[in-house]
Amino acid sequence: MRVLIHIDNLEKWRAALTKRLPEADIVTSSDPEEHRRHADYLAVWKPPSWLFENQPGLKGIVNLGAGVDALLATPKLPENVPIVKLRDAGMAPPMADYVLYGVLHFQRDFDRYLGDESEQRWQPREIVEKSDWPVGVLGLGAIGSQVAKRLAESGFPVHGWSRNPKSLKNVTCHHGEVGLEDILKQVRTLVTLLPDTPRTRGLIDAERLALLPRGATLINPGRGALVDETALVEALGNSEQEGHLRGALLDVFETEPLPEDSPLWRHPRVRLTPHMSAPTPFEAAADQVVEAIHSWEAGETLATVDRRSGY
Ligand code: NDP
Repeated sequence: MRVLIHIDNLEKWRAALTKRLPEADIVTSSDPEEHRRHADYLAVWKPPSWLFENQPGLKGIVNLGAGVDALLATPKLPENVPIVKLRDAGMAPPMADYVLYGVLHFQRDFDRYLGDESEQRWQPREIVEKSDWPVGVLGLGAIGSQVAKRLAESGFPVHGWSRNPKSLKNVTCHHGEVGLEDILKQVRTLVTLLPDTPRTRGLIDAERLALLPRGATLINPGRGALVDETALVEALGNSEQEGHLRGALLDVFETEPLPEDSPLWRHPRVRLTPHMSAPTPFEAAADQVVEAIHSWEAGETLATVDRRSGY
């Protein structure tokens, strides 16, 4: 059995997979001799299209991340090869930390205190109770559901949104277009943890931002394409005047790295981070690769990516 890998840190991955799959020949994309040889499985993150040339006998592809948008957009991706993506693999706890930090940042007025500090203004503010701070989590998947759960455990009323109806303890679950409107109209923080698919791209546009209550906040650690950045900047207002939205915490962007001339860099009500909210934990990811390969080899049915839905 041969497994071809393409990701940063190739040698670390080769060692981890060799240790876990001693019977397999683990080859890497960095060596032209190796990547031209026929492989049974690919384990990849953002592969170049040439990687799929000379690979007529693939039995499966493992995407080394939770989001498959980059993989599905790769030209020459073979049509009928099953794809498995990482499911949580330890990404949910750091993502829940990131989102909880973001919600507290706004609920406890840290955004306002930053402004006060820069002007040496001593001005304690009344705390808005967590119970009066409903949070919406769009996307209740392997990671989104854990984020919703953590927020609910922390005392926030949580509304979740998915494509299919769902039931989660202590989370009011919604689905479909009407469900989305219900959420947008009542939350003080909206968290976008959806995959980037044809149906979610540009979902949070000017119209939907306007449905949020005045003074609402946005946290986007999902994908940049979910939010119309121009509409967001417009909704946030400018340094003189707060707009319809009070602030945003953004980890992902339409273009990454965020271009130098993006107005988001300098916006007074935007906090931003460089796509770091939930890096893939290496050991758990390597375990999931091996689990998938063993299941394929054993002829078991795996939860694969639905290419038509895009996730
Ligand atoms: P999953 O694929 O497990 O779940 C996706 C969720 O989105 C599901 O609940 C699904 O609904 C919902 N969904 C998809 N399409 C729609 C739609 N059209 N309308 C309503 N709901 C929809 O994803 P994860 O939870 O593992 O991850 C979510 C995203 O987070 C990833 O795709 C990735 O983009 C991002 N991410 C970002 C990271 C970072 O470091 N910034 C790290 C890891 C992930 P249903 O349950 O009904 O299928």
